[in-house]
Amino acid sequence: QCECNNYLIETDDCRSLYKVRSKFAHKGHFGHALLIAGSTGKYGASVMAARACLRSGVGLLTVHTPADGFQTIQGSVHEAMVSIDPDDSCFSALPVLDTYNAIGVGPGLGMDEQSAAALKLLIQQTHVPLVLDADALNILGENKTWLSFLPPGSILTPHPKEFGRLSEPTDNHFNRLELLRAFAVRYRLYIVLKGAFTATATPEGDLFFNPTGNPGMATGGSGDVLTGIILGLRTSGYSARDACILGVWLHGKAGDLAAKKYGQPSMLPGDMIEMLGKAFKKIS
Ligand code: AMP
Ligand code: MG
Repeated sequence: QCECNNYLIETDDCRSLYKVRSKFAHKGHFGHALLIAGSTGKYGASVMAARACLRSGVGLLTVHTPADGFQTIQGSVHEAMVSIDPDDSCFSALPVLDTYNAIGVGPGLGMDEQSAAALKLLIQQTHVPLVLDADALNILGENKTWLSFLPPGSILTPHPKEFGRLSEPTDNHFNRLELLRAFAVRYRLYIVLKGAFTATATPEGDLFFNPTGNPGMATGGSGDVLTGIILGLRTSGYSARDACILGVWLHGKAGDLAAKKYGQPSMLPGDMIEMLGKAFKKIS
């Protein structure tokens, strides 16, 4: 029996986690993130995750992209550096990993065999925390033995279907929460189970429920924004636990602000990125 607890994330909790920047800070203090994302037809996911990461406090960001995504990324995310994969259309090889403080993988990645092989290599070679989402999770779901080799403090951000592929499928939300807790404890990972009241499970078996957000966020691209936010926070010095808690709260708050301005049916994930600054202001 675990001594685990359930918590509701409140605005004041986020306010106390938020780190004020020193007057003398420079970009070296806020880390260098690597984002491995995109494949032909899905570079929008890379752009959204990259923009959200840059709006979440990261010092430097490099986006690793298949070659045919280069123009899109460089042309639309001017603040990011770009690393070009030898393959035209999918992730197939790792850049040199020495300089990064955290690595995000998955938005728009696709599930090519080469990408799975490159993800395996990444898990074997890196010691820095990973933020895994989307197809990176689907690849893991097909190769569950890799889960034990993920660097400690890594964060996974599945929606219920992706979590079902990693753990076991269930339609019962209460069962899913118990599976979530057990999974986080077993693999010593932080798992962010997305949806209304997103639940973050910690390696200690605690669950943190997030009250911000709304059904206007139920649209393609919302999850890519969350990946970027959590990667930015993790890279810039927040612990895995705090990056998850702050990340889901800010993401939902940005969604609520976007819904207020545009309405739930019309709001776009890109609008949520625009609102991130206002969301940060609520807790800073
Ligand atoms: P994905 O399915 O990967 O695009 O992720 C969707 C994102 O939108 C997650 O962060 C969800 O928590 C969020 N989201 C989707 N639907 C809702 C909802 N009804 N209430 C709050 N957040 C939601
Ligand atoms: Mg997603």
